[in-house]
Amino acid sequence: MGVLAKIAGIVLAISLMTFIIFFGRLPIFRRTPIAWLYSFFVVRVPSAVLAVDKRLTGGRCSTSLRRFGSFMMNDKHPTVVIFFLVLLVGSEYMAVPSAWPFLSGMQRFSVVTLCTLPYVFLYLATYSDPGTVSTGSLKYHMSLYPYDYALFHPGARCYTCRMLKPPRSKHCPICKRCIGRLDHHCIFINNCVGVGNHHWFLLLLLSTALLTTYGGLTGIQILGGRVVERYPTWSLLPWRAYEGVGSNSTLAGTLLAAAASRRMKFDTWLMYLSWGMKNFVHLGSVSLLGILISPLVWGLLAFNLWNIWTGQTTNESLKWSDWKYDMDDGLVYRRRMSHERRPAVMAAISEAGVTDILACSTRWPAEAEYVLVRSEDGNPPARDRQDLPGVGEWERVWKLRDVENLYDLGFLNNLRDIFIPNYQFNTTGLPPAERRGRPRRRVLGK
Ligand SMILES: [Zn+2]
Ligand SMILES: [Zn+2]
Repeated sequence: MGVLAKIAGIVLAISLMTFIIFFGRLPIFRRTPIAWLYSFFVVRVPSAVLAVDKRLTGGRCSTSLRRFGSFMMNDKHPTVVIFFLVLLVGSEYMAVPSAWPFLSGMQRFSVVTLCTLPYVFLYLATYSDPGTVSTGSLKYHMSLYPYDYALFHPGARCYTCRMLKPPRSKHCPICKRCIGRLDHHCIFINNCVGVGNHHWFLLLLLSTALLTTYGGLTGIQILGGRVVERYPTWSLLPWRAYEGVGSNSTLAGTLLAAAASRRMKFDTWLMYLSWGMKNFVHLGSVSLLGILISPLVWGLLAFNLWNIWTGQTTNESLKWSDWKYDMDDGLVYRRRMSHERRPAVMAAISEAGVTDILACSTRWPAEAEYVLVRSEDGNPPARDRQDLPGVGEWERVWKLRDVENLYDLGFLNNLRDIFIPNYQFNTTGLPPAERRGRPRRRVLGK
């Protein structure tokens, strides 16, 4: 019991902390315990430590800690990739040899396949170009998506590399370059997740989720089998375990106890399980780690799929959430786009030295219909302002769901866009509104 509780406690705590640190700041968790725990661990605890250190050592410890923290979080280095690899190799080294003799032919095949795939996808996600925007690739990135006149505007430049910003691109401060359709910088692959490697990243998540789940469940099943060999009335499912027999049990005893239907007490059930854990400690702890970590990996995958479902990147979901707060304050206005938007886009493009206008026409089957602006004082911008695109009156927007996300073409098309490079959507014949696979107005987040 002691060993089991300790292992489970440690693994659970690690999983929970990882989840909070990675997801706590996401808009979807605002005003939930996850966000409170995030601010507690990431803001309050460090500032309390800083205050104590200032008093005790005059701040010397915190300076070096901060330097270390900033290196870990803001520099490009493979520490976390190495940690991930060590965890993966170590777990497989500990668990597979002890499980191997008990595996069927099919299980052996599955184990080998599932153990191999994460390495392949990790390699591809880490070493593929996530979609670096350079002078050479600017034209390509410009051709991928249209500007939505809400999050992305023609002519905008990256503050850092001064490069013209293609729609959906973002500068990564860690890689120090602009990336096309940047989702986020991922420390697990020491690379950005962008238009060039998003599919490899998703496959890495899927293969890791399958490995942790299958590995964990198979390991526990094998371990359960060993416990049953020794305590025949025990079962992996607590409600199917029966009391009344010890290690010197006989088949008759087993049947008697089962017939009497005296269900095994949970404490006893745990005691036998921890006997298995103690005797197969490597297999046991790795399986437990797999089982406890797999919800985390599935959660990550689900979060990514949710973003694909709503047609937004993590970066865009953060931007939309800022818009939402401005909408709540009544600061957001929109008006219809004029049909003469092309000149604005072309001016921006030709300014960038991309003169082949045709090459910049987009494969995307829709164009922005509104321009979205923030007002400083809550009043709409003047009707005749020449510096803002669009024509006609400004109307106030209160809800995110009244705004269209230009980059959402429906789940399947969004998936195609991620998995098939430069996928050519069918844009013939239909007006923009009917080209979509479903209603245009969508709720983007909460
Ligand atoms: Zn940049
Ligand atoms: Zn990056």
